[in-house]
Amino acid sequence: MLRITDILEKTQSYLSPVELEMIEKAYIFSASVHQGQIRLSGEPYLTHPMEVAGMLADMKMDAATIITGLLHDTVEDTLTTLKQIEDNFGKVVANLVDGLTKISKIRFSSQEERQAENFRKMILAMSSDMRILLIRLADRVHNMRTLEFQTPDRQHYIAQETLELYAPLANRLGINWMKTELEDLAFRHLDFDAYNDLAKRVAKKREKRERYTEEVKNIIKKELDNLGIQGEIEGRAKHFYSIYQKMQEQHINFDEVYDLTAFRIILDSDKEKDCYEALSAVHALWKPVPGRFKDYIAMPKANNYRSLHTTVIGPYGERVEIQIRTREMHEWAEEGIAAHWHYKEGYDHHGDDVEQIRKLRELLEVQQELDNPHEFMSNLKLALFPDEVYVFTPNGDVRAFPKGATPVDFAYSIHTDIGHQCIGAKVNRNIVPLKYLLKNGDTVEIITQAGHHPSKDWLKFVVTSKAISRIRSWVNAEERKKSIGLGKALLEKEFKKHHLKLNQLVKSEEIKGLYAEYSIKTSDDLLATVGYGRLSPKRVVNLFLPEDTVKKDDVSAQKTKKKIPVSSSLGISLTGIEDVLVRFAKCCEPIPGDAIIGYISRGRGVTIHTTGCPIIQELDPERLVTVEWAIKEKNAYPVHLRAVCRDHKGVLAEISSIISSFDVNISHAEIETNPDMQAICDFRIDVHDLTQFNQIVTSIKKLNGIISVERIRRVQ
Ligand code: MN
Repeated sequence: MLRITDILEKTQSYLSPVELEMIEKAYIFSASVHQGQIRLSGEPYLTHPMEVAGMLADMKMDAATIITGLLHDTVEDTLTTLKQIEDNFGKVVANLVDGLTKISKIRFSSQEERQAENFRKMILAMSSDMRILLIRLADRVHNMRTLEFQTPDRQHYIAQETLELYAPLANRLGINWMKTELEDLAFRHLDFDAYNDLAKRVAKKREKRERYTEEVKNIIKKELDNLGIQGEIEGRAKHFYSIYQKMQEQHINFDEVYDLTAFRIILDSDKEKDCYEALSAVHALWKPVPGRFKDYIAMPKANNYRSLHTTVIGPYGERVEIQIRTREMHEWAEEGIAAHWHYKEGYDHHGDDVEQIRKLRELLEVQQELDNPHEFMSNLKLALFPDEVYVFTPNGDVRAFPKGATPVDFAYSIHTDIGHQCIGAKVNRNIVPLKYLLKNGDTVEIITQAGHHPSKDWLKFVVTSKAISRIRSWVNAEERKKSIGLGKALLEKEFKKHHLKLNQLVKSEEIKGLYAEYSIKTSDDLLATVGYGRLSPKRVVNLFLPEDTVKKDDVSAQKTKKKIPVSSSLGISLTGIEDVLVRFAKCCEPIPGDAIIGYISRGRGVTIHTTGCPIIQELDPERLVTVEWAIKEKNAYPVHLRAVCRDHKGVLAEISSIISSFDVNISHAEIETNPDMQAICDFRIDVHDLTQFNQIVTSIKKLNGIISVERIRRVQ
């Protein structure tokens, strides 16, 4: 078992005494809270965080990372709180532990490649700090090394998750040793027979292979020596999983896998041009296989891997795979991003590192300003996908959304009908508002009700184009439906006035004359155009009237403007066309019982004014329609009321209590005193109708000291 002294020994070369002390403190803390817990292997639980911290120390990680390695399971598996972690070890460590606790709750559930990629992105997005991911990977390596103590089901699940999520993440960060170890361990648990068979076959050929490896290495070494190129040559057996993958992909059996050994030339020089020189030396020795040369120095891989790859026909006519790179490139290839935490004595972080950092930055798409590479490293945010948020469906699938997405966006992403009928949502089993902003790792469930319709208001907060377009098209269809109804009612009344029948004339040639002018195609379009207020009913009916009638009508229209309301021949009732297409004017606040008149506003249906509203004098009389109340349900309508009284204490309270006694809501109240020492009390109240309003007025008038009570226009 790894001891704390081992970890301190690994780290004392590059960490300060204060940092070493903190590591020791974390060890004592972890040991005390995990006290008595046993791993399935029978060992004390503490062995696990110790191994993880040891691995991170080998990777030369900073103190916060190693401390977090020791503490990473405390919040999840013991009674320890984040607050305690923060109090004892500071904010940075608490933040790292918190991130790890959250990631450990993700349950990988799909074997579909696209889903796996979403899971990987989710883990990256949740690793707000790079180090979270590195600790998570070390945690996974140790759990995989001790996987045999789990039940077969768990073994399978963890191995599958490792192969699909964590090995690719290690690869993405460029940490080759982790990627290969995780793959081989996962392979062993997922298909023990195949793994075992392969391992035996590789072992059988071992002696022969080692002899062969030595021979090839010597030939290359001699050639490089002749050219004065210094370096090390490695010949290593490929890892099992990569051999297995090759057999699967190329449908070949083990004996057909020609290159079990990969050769690597690691140059002492740090110059790229020496790599190309070594390459030409190799190509001078053996004939290259066409199409197998890859220049990852000129064009590095996405994870910043740099190397030259070539395959040549070796001394026995066999194919030999050779990689050529500098030591620095090699370090990156093996350790990836982790290599950047290395403490290097006398190493100038401001010099050579800059180019490397630049590439890393591109790789991670980090926007952060780069003042000091070291500081950059220790604060590196893995903001790989800053504009996306990943959430779970109740089935455990992951879906990606733009940041700012809401449960309504989620609902529409599943199905248009789910979106339309969405009446509520649960996130992590709690009811949330439809405007709730989805967060990484949320599990979202949509509550629907058959027959429910989307609301125009949703357009104010949805962000996905699918939700926006579906809601908009529903609203448009609905408005059109209502416009057709309204247009038909308006036209029928106008036609009736002149003893004409709309039904017979709607498809006549006269009407079709209007089609081109208003881009109308069908008779429904015509009705909708009238309903939207783009075409006046009068204009349509005039098509069927003799010239002089039209003129007379124009004159009467002029008269109409003066004595409002007059266009009494048109009458529509306020039922059936409500909500989308009827709105009440804010200037005069009509309430049921008031004499009212409608105005067909362009594209917005009918606005209802009181007949006494001065605004109507300014409006186009052609577009005025008479409307009548047809209210069945009691709704509340806002209205303003002003009471003037002699100023005395409690007047506002007295008036309020009278209003409330009618069970009427007061949404606004204001009191002012005028120079005559009178109190002016303004209220905004919601009444059912004019009768109720008048009753309220009468009651207030009975109060002591009231001078006047009246309905007022909304203060503009
Ligand atoms: Mn762990």
